[in-house]
Amino acid sequence: MRLVSTRGQAVAASFCDAVARGIAEDGGLYVPASVTPLPRKFFDAAGGRPLRELAFDLARHLLDGEIPDRDLETIITRSLTFDAPIRMLADDLGVLELFHGPTLAFKDFGAQFMAHTLAWLNREASTKRHILVATSGDTGSAVAHAFHNVEGMHVILLYPSGRISTVQELQLTTLRGNVTALEIAGTFDDCQRMVKEAFADAELRTRMQLTSANSINIARLLPQSFYYVGAWAQRPDRSRPVEFSVPSGNLGNLTAGILAMKAGLPVRKFIAAVNANTALPRYLATGTTAPVPAIATLSNAMDVGDPSNLARLRWLFGDDRDLLGSVLHSASFSDEQTRAAIRSVYRCYQYVLDPHGAVGYCGLEHVRSAASSGSLGIILETAHPAKFLDALDPEIRSSVHVPARLRAALEGEKRSVRLSPAFAGFKEFLLHTTFS
Ligand SMILES: *Cc1c(COP(=O)(O)O)cnc(C)c1O
Repeated sequence: MRLVSTRGQAVAASFCDAVARGIAEDGGLYVPASVTPLPRKFFDAAGGRPLRELAFDLARHLLDGEIPDRDLETIITRSLTFDAPIRMLADDLGVLELFHGPTLAFKDFGAQFMAHTLAWLNREASTKRHILVATSGDTGSAVAHAFHNVEGMHVILLYPSGRISTVQELQLTTLRGNVTALEIAGTFDDCQRMVKEAFADAELRTRMQLTSANSINIARLLPQSFYYVGAWAQRPDRSRPVEFSVPSGNLGNLTAGILAMKAGLPVRKFIAAVNANTALPRYLATGTTAPVPAIATLSNAMDVGDPSNLARLRWLFGDDRDLLGSVLHSASFSDEQTRAAIRSVYRCYQYVLDPHGAVGYCGLEHVRSAASSGSLGIILETAHPAKFLDALDPEIRSSVHVPARLRAALEGEKRSVRLSPAFAGFKEFLLHTTFS
């Protein structure tokens, strides 16, 4: 696999180099220089095949021999220890449940694959690798769990103080061991900027082996394309064209879906459903990419004012908004609409959506029209509702089963280090802390 930078100034990298670097030398994001589609018969024959097999075939195709088959199979077997089932609510409406991993959110897919890929890359190294992650909630816990107790790795998480749920915070701050949680007095965008500054800092880069685990790392992005193919393989009525509604923030999940489509997956349309943070619909409507401050909403893992993966999306479509608009529709929904969607889905189908999935549902409702009749709309349900109980009405809340692995985190004791959003203090901390 050959990857180039979205800024076009860095030399092309192999998949393994891009994983180890995280971000390209010119500050851009790595993106596949080209994606060859798999033959249509691969998708025609996908029906009923298990996710792990499909993931292996797709990864093998995309990586083009860079990781030997046996090792790739091991990486996939170790990462995909959980499934991504579709719950059909109606003939034309399915929910792809992406919350069956260790931290109950879809970020487990990317985090697990990345951890096992890095462990494989690092198999002969003697120096410790430091994984830096800015998190708006779910990324951090997924990455922390994926790397927890992995030899030779230390995870440093940055999260915006007071802007994530209590449950999310406990999932981040109760692991200990090789995981350090930094509580930043700022927003997610501050956390993301601090991580980017760390990677751009020559002194830090020579003194520590820094690796990114944000959705900017290609190893986080790639495995998120697997479950789109998995969803396709599970659809009960194979004559219906498929539309995916993706609740979106930093646009990693959406970009992975686009990669799956470029790899040949027949998708009629993507719907990128966003909350009050409207960078993507604004870009599609006006072409502007000027960052704006993040706005706090109910679907807080999508509170991103300046989504990193917009650069990848633009690159993949040659910065042609009309071309992007031909496969993608994006719309924004308020917290009020999100709450109403949770109630309505519960009433109609006795199914509980979390606020992120509910934004996805709004997207499907809003965008589907006569033109999409006959299609199967699939909502990506990105988190388990038990992670966001506060957002639910009491009646709905009482019907949610809280999984045991979540209850365990809730009983732990929070431990974090508080820092200001200034880069200098963060750098100081990195250089002068001895990590276990
Ligand atoms: C991160 C996250 C999102 C947004 O995904 P992006 O890839 O950043 O667009 C949506 N829902 C949940 C629960 C998340 O954790």
